[in-house]
Amino acid sequence: MSKQYKAAALISGGLDSLLAAKVMLEQGIHVEGINFFTGFCVEGHTAAIRKKQQDKPKRNNALWSAEQLGIKLHIIDIVDEYKDVLINPKHGYGANMNPCLDCKIFMVHKALEWIQENDFDFIITGEVMGQRPMSQRKETMPVVANESGAEDLLLRPLCAKNLPMTKPEKEGWVEREKLLAFHGRNRKPQMALAKDFGFEDYASPAGGCCFLTDENYSKKLVDLWQARSSRDYEMDDIMLLKVGRHLRPKPYYKLIIGREEGENKFMQGYTKMFSSIKTVSHAGPLCLVDGATDKDDLEYAAQIVARYSQGKNEDTVTLQINRLDSEPYEITVKPLAADDVKQDWHV
Ligand code: SF4
Repeated sequence: MSKQYKAAALISGGLDSLLAAKVMLEQGIHVEGINFFTGFCVEGHTAAIRKKQQDKPKRNNALWSAEQLGIKLHIIDIVDEYKDVLINPKHGYGANMNPCLDCKIFMVHKALEWIQENDFDFIITGEVMGQRPMSQRKETMPVVANESGAEDLLLRPLCAKNLPMTKPEKEGWVEREKLLAFHGRNRKPQMALAKDFGFEDYASPAGGCCFLTDENYSKKLVDLWQARSSRDYEMDDIMLLKVGRHLRPKPYYKLIIGREEGENKFMQGYTKMFSSIKTVSHAGPLCLVDGATDKDDLEYAAQIVARYSQGKNEDTVTLQINRLDSEPYEITVKPLAADDVKQDWHV
């Protein structure tokens, strides 16, 4: 009986990795998926927090992909190791704070370690040449294979025919003829293939897979680093950058103001880590205060928070201030006038 070869598929939750894995399954390869959790993954996170986006499915798209494919999925937490990739990317950043090329190299390297430990034969990704400006260019495709150490054990089924033969092709583990030659940014071939395979309701094809490609998120991350004079972060920091309105009235503190009920509830979980402000006399947002503040700062912050409450046009609004280092107390303030909320406070 001939050997059944085994491939580890990097599954992001997007259409391309879904298709790449399916192409391999069609060739009789045993495929298992790996999904790396960096902490920056979008994966329905915002939809899960924000009430407004209730129409979007609250699902983990990587798990959904694995379910569609009928394969096992290994979700691997790389939050700590990923810090070095993000903070010191050898190949630099893309349009925002996305270190895509270093990220790909790192993930393929981790996948290589995984296949060695688990006795798998090769790695597949859903990369398509020319699709992404940074990590999926003709010149960078070999860089990922070389610098990750995967070399010819890295097969990209969706564009393999545009690339040199890999070991699985040379050795006849897979049929090169049945691989694809997709290239460029046109998504129609992928959509047609998805239709052929009967996949519907897959994650938005061009949708970003991580927050680091998002301009606003990237600005908030850079602001965090600047304010702390350190390019470091904890998981809580990067989660909080995903929610709320971020205002920095002074260089040494920032306010994170919930924009709706879902965010307020999510932020409630952080009130033991940060001082917080909540309106009492009127409906209003929860605000977390990130930075060292004194009583005057908190009074001013309360005026700002009142601006975002139902009492914004009243003479006074009462709020409760919860400092980490003292008992909660109430304060009554005049909401800040709209014009006094400076544009350059918005991170
Ligand atoms: S978008 Fe994010 S997860 Fe995807 S390659 Fe770039 S940095 Fe990595």
